[in-house]
Amino acid sequence: GQLDLAFQPQVEIATGRIVGAETLVRWEHPEHGVVTPDVLLTIAENAEIMAQFDDRILRMALAEIASWTDPERSGLNISVNISAAKLHDEDFDIQVLNALEQAGVAPSRLTLEVTETAIIESLEVAARSLGRLRNHGVHIAIDDFGTGYSSLAYLKSLPLDYLKVDKKFITDLASRKRDRIVIHSLVELARSLGIGVIAEGVETEAQLSFLRKEGCNWYQGYLCSQPLPAAQLETFVAEWNSRAGP
Ligand code: C2E
Ligand code: CA
Ligand code: CA
Repeated sequence: GQLDLAFQPQVEIATGRIVGAETLVRWEHPEHGVVTPDVLLTIAENAEIMAQFDDRILRMALAEIASWTDPERSGLNISVNISAAKLHDEDFDIQVLNALEQAGVAPSRLTLEVTETAIIESLEVAARSLGRLRNHGVHIAIDDFGTGYSSLAYLKSLPLDYLKVDKKFITDLASRKRDRIVIHSLVELARSLGIGVIAEGVETEAQLSFLRKEGCNWYQGYLCSQPLPAAQLETFVAEWNSRAGP
């Protein structure tokens, strides 16, 4: 009962509007204070409760979304991180569809973020579940792209909607030509496969203008906002989008 959710806005680069948010877990321990997600997830992994943990977060996120009736938040697409352990569940797709139905949330509002490593560890099971979920309208994103296998063969054969380029490629865009070449090629590749590109960890206007020029579709990062508690998200989106225009 001590877990909380924060939501980091995702901005559509072409319009400058916030169109979605990523769910990130927060734990404020009564004695130890704030426990970072890295520590929390390591604890959950060691205790072999990652799958239950993901389940809890997904249900919390869906309950939260279902409670949003304001125009600011009710149109947002929400991303939830899914760990390898959860993805390995044979009936993962059924679990997600049940959770959506119980919460009364349309599948098309949910994006599941999975890493390449998690998919490759159980390729057959994962591809089947993700494919079925996608047929029901759930969106699938590959998280931290560029830090794992980055296999082009998987990109081509998996049921995917978005590719999230890891922040390590974004941080030094200004000074590293190689990173600019990687981004350029990734956007090109994704476009030719019909996959959208989300850049993570965007902190400066210079990074954003490069990404815009390359045709990257969305970004998230401190340039827009840190992850916010759900209540703050409402005012933040209202103010941001009214400045961005229709
Ligand atoms: P991630 O999925 O890559 O999430 C993005 C991380 O980058 C978040 O860290 C976010 O706060 C941080 N970030 C966002 N914008 C910026 C920026 O502009 N600059 C920099 N330097 N950092 C930025 P956070 O919240 O500490 O989460 C760390 C990781 O923990 C996440 O990485 C994700 O892999 C995992 N995680 C977080 N919440 C959950 C969850 O509910 N379930 C699961 N399975 N994993 C989670
Ligand atoms: Ca993520
Ligand atoms: Ca990521």
